[in-house]
Amino acid sequence: MSKQTNYQQLIRNLEYLKLKQMVMHLDEVIDFGISNQLSFIETLIKLTNYEIDVREQNMIHAMVKVGAFPHLKEIRDFDFSFQPSINQQQIQDFLTLRFIEGNENIVFLGPSGVGKTHLATAIGIGAAKKRTSTYFIKSHELIQNLKKARLENRLESRLKHYTKYKLLIIDEIGYLPIDSEDAKLFFQLIDMRYEKRSTIFTTNVNFKSWDEVFQEPKLANAILDRILHHATVVTIMGDSYRLKDHLTKESE
Ligand code: ADP
Ligand code: MG
Repeated sequence: MSKQTNYQQLIRNLEYLKLKQMVMHLDEVIDFGISNQLSFIETLIKLTNYEIDVREQNMIHAMVKVGAFPHLKEIRDFDFSFQPSINQQQIQDFLTLRFIEGNENIVFLGPSGVGKTHLATAIGIGAAKKRTSTYFIKSHELIQNLKKARLENRLESRLKHYTKYKLLIIDEIGYLPIDSEDAKLFFQLIDMRYEKRSTIFTTNVNFKSWDEVFQEPKLANAILDRILHHATVVTIMGDSYRLKDHLTKESE
């Protein structure tokens, strides 16, 4: 074997340690260090930062993927001028994740198309990017999953699974009626997360009509009680964004 230069040895070491980015940027950082007369420490910081940056990006990417968001719409994609009933500062405050520190809930209430899912998703993506374990699910699917778990005698572990997320987003409560057996499952989850974890809900149904959604008033009350005890309700009144173009065309 021919004798290696130190430079070659360094590359082999970095490759052995799987520090791909450091290998890739090695020449550039060495040149930069020489021309700017950087110290060894400064140069090494610069080189390691390349590795860290990519790992952080991958990490964020993985967290967002785990979140199972319906789309990757973020807050910058939201046109606040279209929905003046929304207090933009309040949404910005949610994005600081202060509500998660306090294990508080958020409820987005309003008719179809006003941006409830968009805002819930944007907050969820914001949380995932800050490494907060987050999961998005439609209420109907959540209940189906709990039902299936009960049939397969693994309800307890399923409930624990949904409780472990620091932020759970339960979308579309009220679009489909929920019978009392299913409501009990839903209640169990809400009760397990109560005061321990934050949950974001979206619904098109006023709270006084939740009796009809959950069909059993007592259960509906118990569920609402826990959801609303530490919650900020954001009521969105306005036009559907889905019909935006349609509405402008009409008024033209
Ligand atoms: P909801 O959940 O209230 O029924 P969505 O959040 O699904 O409504 O919004 C419907 C569609 O319109 C989505 O594609 C969403 O991204 C978009 N949308 C809604 N409101 C806005 C807004 N103010 N600015 C930009 N896009 C919006
Ligand atoms: Mg929606």
